[in-house]
Amino acid sequence: MSSVEEKLGMLTFKNDHQSHIQIPDPKICITRCKDKPCTKICPAKVYDWVESQKKIVIGYENCIECGAARMLCPYQNIRWEPPRGGFGVSYKYG
Ligand code: SF4
Repeated sequence: MSSVEEKLGMLTFKNDHQSHIQIPDPKICITRCKDKPCTKICPAKVYDWVESQKKIVIGYENCIECGAARMLCPYQNIRWEPPRGGFGVSYKYG
């Protein structure tokens, strides 16, 4: 059986130059969200807390469009739109 990383490696992406994911209020991430679940639940590790910058850095290019982070952000602080037409992930299997 393949690992998650191996399965992610089978995907292809056509990346847009602009992110389809935004964090409307970055202060909430700093002041209210202690556990930062977006950094733990995303299987593609799109969300990364960078302590030196005190912010979530979004690697939108790796988004597999599962929607988990948006649903599980306790402060509804992730604005996620589908990638523009023609951009985003392509699944080859399953
Ligand atoms: S889960 Fe939501 S509020 Fe918490 S760090 Fe991530 S984006 Fe910010």
